[in-house]
Amino acid sequence: MDYFPIFCQLNNKPCLLVGGGEVAERKARLLMDAGAVISVVAPTFTPQFMQWQNEQRLQCFMAEFSVADLADKWLVIAATDNEQVNQLVYQQATEQRIFCNVVDSPKQASFIMPSVIDRSPIMVAISSGGKAPVLARILREKMEQWLPNSLGALAQLAGKLREQVKQRFATMSARRYFWERFFADKALQAEIDAGRDNGIQQRISTLLAENNQPQGSVVLVGAGPGDAGLMTIKGLQQCQQADVVIYDRLVSDEVMHLVRRDAERIYVGKRAGFHCVPQEEINQILINHAKAGKRVVRLKGGDPFIFGRGSEELEALIEHQIPFSVVPGITAASGCTTYAGIPLTHRDYAQSVRFITGHGKGLNDAQWQCIAQDNQTLVFYMGLSKADYIQQMLLNQHMRATMPVAIVEKGTLATQKVVVGQLQQLAEMANSMQSPALIIVGEVVSLNQKLQWFGTTLAN
Ligand code: SAH
Repeated sequence: MDYFPIFCQLNNKPCLLVGGGEVAERKARLLMDAGAVISVVAPTFTPQFMQWQNEQRLQCFMAEFSVADLADKWLVIAATDNEQVNQLVYQQATEQRIFCNVVDSPKQASFIMPSVIDRSPIMVAISSGGKAPVLARILREKMEQWLPNSLGALAQLAGKLREQVKQRFATMSARRYFWERFFADKALQAEIDAGRDNGIQQRISTLLAENNQPQGSVVLVGAGPGDAGLMTIKGLQQCQQADVVIYDRLVSDEVMHLVRRDAERIYVGKRAGFHCVPQEEINQILINHAKAGKRVVRLKGGDPFIFGRGSEELEALIEHQIPFSVVPGITAASGCTTYAGIPLTHRDYAQSVRFITGHGKGLNDAQWQCIAQDNQTLVFYMGLSKADYIQQMLLNQHMRATMPVAIVEKGTLATQKVVVGQLQQLAEMANSMQSPALIIVGEVVSLNQKLQWFGTTLAN
């Protein structure tokens, strides 16, 4: 983060503006909007400044900038067309620990002013840290279009209602559910748009009267293999409405950044060298939070129904009559192979795919025989530590020693690592890889040479 975003309260606070031209006018307008007590220093002023002075909206001092002007100021903006003066203002302000903005020179500024969408009290500020102001402007224009003008009125109304809502609903979660309904209420929106005070009051009374004591529930959400962009829209919505998010090791930090900031986060995964929370205990955590009326999201890496024990968790919920739903996710086999440029099927090489667990319940010889058949792609989950065993079993079933294989570590993340080699090298390849990793066996692996598009591939 190059700049720390804050909204400051400037009302009645002395601020200094250096410069009396048109650029300075724009800054003066912003400071006036914020209610600052503005002193402007410049050798000459535009007529607009003189008019503002007459209206007592600011005070003009016809002089060159001097250090004394900084006394008691909270904030300074240097907006002259003289670079040296701007620099002097910045240096002096910095020495006195006063935040200073230098117009058109983000490098020489201790604060910058973002592009702003003003729906007071809702303010949206967009900044590119001075690196791409045009992009910031384009984003602002886009957001302007989809933020309704009545947004400010809605927020204003919410501010007035806060106390009443607190009295009406005893718990935090009951209040939050009220506000969610309030802000999503189309009828209320229509009354506000039409400016009908009676209608607004009636709608609010109805919303307040409704009993909205929330019933707890659990949503099992597939977070995908790592790249946060691969989570579904539905999964994202659930994460942003959750009271509690219970997650494990495979859920990437990127995905966790998308979770509602106020949601409680409970980690139940394994840490290197330590055991994970036992399944029964995870089930109990889900049940306890749902019974307390919480909206629980159980976030799992990949797809919750593929080697994810998702169904076991749901069985426990069913026993306790807790409502649940499931949002599928992109499973590692799909995400990792795609990001490694390996298609799972191909008309000429693989007419079927198998997802196989590398550990867990053992497979017998007959099963290995089926697995080792030609014209299919094998994807081993949790197989890294069993790579030598997998290699041996496939060779025992006469799969050719030169069959292409790949291992994908941390697939779909910026740190993804892909190694490609032959079946006879699988165990050796696994030595240089870390968990989580996926083993892919089949002719399709060789297509990676042509189709690789993300990161790099190492040949063993
Ligand atoms: N439910 C998950 C799988 C859980 S089993 C899914 O659908 O993807 C855990 C195994 O998944 C890991 O041992 C590894 O083999 C694989 N895996 C999950 N995410 C991965 C990733 N980003 N890169 C490589 N392998 C991954």
